[in-house]
Amino acid sequence: MPDYAIDPPAQAFVPVAGGGAFPVRRVFCVGRNYAEHAREMGSDPDREPPFFFMKPADALLLGGAELPYPPMTKDLHHEMELVVAIGRGGADIAEAEALDHVWGYAAGLDMTRRDLQGQAKKEGKPWDMGKGFDHSAPIGDMVPASRIGHPSRGTIELGVNGTVRQTSDLSKMIWNVPETIAYLSRLVRLAPGDLIFTGTPEGVAAVGRGDTLEGRIDGVGTVKTTVV
Ligand code: MN
Repeated sequence: MPDYAIDPPAQAFVPVAGGGAFPVRRVFCVGRNYAEHAREMGSDPDREPPFFFMKPADALLLGGAELPYPPMTKDLHHEMELVVAIGRGGADIAEAEALDHVWGYAAGLDMTRRDLQGQAKKEGKPWDMGKGFDHSAPIGDMVPASRIGHPSRGTIELGVNGTVRQTSDLSKMIWNVPETIAYLSRLVRLAPGDLIFTGTPEGVAAVGRGDTLEGRIDGVGTVKTTVV
């Protein structure tokens, strides 16, 4: 180990349901991966290749912790998503083998400063500050695929203060999990510890201080946070 000039950053992780922790390397996110969400964002859903953006690994918010309302925004949106955890790396992964690279799954929230993202889109600037801010990725406990298999259908749902805001089915993804892994692994070599947020269904909307968000994915688990 090098003689570090400062204390090395803490390893990001997600608790595993039943014990242990999944160490996190990078956090990839898929944009516009459900047709109805693409429409509500003013886009035409089609089979154009998937596109990706990233959040820093230390944006993960664990264990139902409170989400401090982020600075520089007046429009904080929820995006409920299935999260895929890569256990085995690789480049140019074939669709047929993609699921062999998955260690497990979790329910996650891609919190978004929609006003900053919208301004960036308009000006042709990067999305990073709209998407990758502190605490922008609340996530529930990870469950291993060895326990639950590989969910390709089932309800994905988010409630705010007990009222359902987002509800859809995993089968409605434009690019399913194997296709997403195969495509992303052609852009970058995937590594153990990488997470992929697989996109949100329709119903995204603003939340404010005091709102409690509770998401659920059939056969996977839950994610919870309260904005403070
Ligand atoms: Mn998203």
